[in-house]
Amino acid sequence: MPSLFVDGAWISGSGGTADVINPFDASVLETVDQAGPDDVDRAVLAARAAFDTGPWRRVPAAERGALLRRVADLLVRDKKEIARTETLDTGKTLVESRIDVDDVTAVFRYYADLAGKDAGRVVDTGQAHVLSRVVPEPIGVCVLITPWNYPLLQLSWKVAPAIAAGNTMVIKPSEVTPLTSVLLVRLLEEAGVPAGVVNIVLGDGRSVGAPLTEHPAVDMVSFTGGLATGQAIIRASAATVKRVAVELGGKNPNIVFADTDFETAVDYALTAVFLHSGQVCSGGARLIVQDEMHDDLVAEIGRRAELIRLGNGLDEGSEVGPLVSAAHRAKIEDYVASAQAEGARLVVGGRRPEEPELQKGFFYRPTVFADVHREMRVVREETFGPILTVERFADEEEAIALGNDTEYGLAGAVWTSDMGRAERVARALRHGTVWINDYHPYIPGAEWGGFKRSGNGRELGPTGLAEYQEHKHIWHNTAPKPVRWFTH
Ligand code: NAD
Repeated sequence: MPSLFVDGAWISGSGGTADVINPFDASVLETVDQAGPDDVDRAVLAARAAFDTGPWRRVPAAERGALLRRVADLLVRDKKEIARTETLDTGKTLVESRIDVDDVTAVFRYYADLAGKDAGRVVDTGQAHVLSRVVPEPIGVCVLITPWNYPLLQLSWKVAPAIAAGNTMVIKPSEVTPLTSVLLVRLLEEAGVPAGVVNIVLGDGRSVGAPLTEHPAVDMVSFTGGLATGQAIIRASAATVKRVAVELGGKNPNIVFADTDFETAVDYALTAVFLHSGQVCSGGARLIVQDEMHDDLVAEIGRRAELIRLGNGLDEGSEVGPLVSAAHRAKIEDYVASAQAEGARLVVGGRRPEEPELQKGFFYRPTVFADVHREMRVVREETFGPILTVERFADEEEAIALGNDTEYGLAGAVWTSDMGRAERVARALRHGTVWINDYHPYIPGAEWGGFKRSGNGRELGPTGLAEYQEHKHIWHNTAPKPVRWFTH
């Protein structure tokens, strides 16, 4: 079956093929088609035509909502296959992939409900014969570029609101993990999305992503991925003044005050950072612990991290899968070497696993560094892997300063049994999501996005829909007559 979907038809494209690798054992999972320059162009022009002249513009918002609801039902129907594919492609455990599919379904339902709810607002002009309205309209052709860590989930945060708002789109998933994005487009087709409204082209960033962001017929780019790529996309979009929404990386503080229950703090610190082998944009990679609890917490986290079971994501007994690729593991190993060279104390990990059955895949053991300081690369940069660094603080002021001492601002957590302090710290942290006595949860109705260099947009919630809308002011003078500004 061809892998590109352009103007309502599955095509093979002119860019050749590429192997999709299973990170568990480095085997080839599937060989998929790649888009050539003409496919990229055709996909954009199909989306352009569908927006400008197709029937899509006249489809009422309630029907767009119904389409999204049908997709949600199809996701429920195909949950098993989709979750399995996501695990094979990314390496994450089946438990996580199933949660991802449930979350994606909830996102489609959320935007199905929101479609058309906001018909705009009437503004009082103070003149009975003048009506002033601000109405939301779709932006036009949107390019949706996604990363490899949550391929289906990140795509759903873009596709569902983009359709709810009435846009047309070209999807460009990560070349590392394209499979579930193709499955989602099949479901959109089955749900009845008109030709040209949703297109998908596969390929890498240089040959497919970049031309999409430069294309003059594209109105908006929504991107989730790394900081350097986001900066390149903002630059590329400047020439044609596209709307650009970027969701980038994070270096997220997990702040633990000494009045937190010890076992709970240990447990969540592990999940915060080692879930999906640390390949989570909001992962709690920086544990910041109050002096009184520091030594015991480091020791217990080290003990439990060593017990984490690595394995095939398809095996129910596995707690953590491999890293996504050999190249990504090499990057993690480089961070570990740099931390050691800069004097960080290795508490646990810092190596590949020894088990014979894990030798073909891209596994790396959960790793903890203590005695780190702010200037170390491993503390400042997003490693995006199973590396936890532990810093210490004396009081609230220092905890806040450390938590904000990063160029990123995506997410963070504060743990304390003092509710007043919890609220003060949560308000003082300059991060887009702050969890109090929890880590990781998010809901479709609440906005997600970064402060500072973690991005400039918001996904989810009503703002995640507004991101795909223009707001047009219509001024209607119902009784025009000459005003004689110019007297002759
Ligand atoms: P990446 O930036 O390498 O790639 C992301 C996507 O951009 C891929 O589809 C890639 O092909 C494409 N791309 C690469 N160069 C391009 C270019 N010049 N023009 C257009 N497209 C281009 O990121 P990645 O390694 O796939 O993902 C990991 C990153 O994503 C991490 O930094 C992580 O924090 C971030 N992330 C952020 C969020 C969030 O919500 N803020 C969520 C998930 C992941």
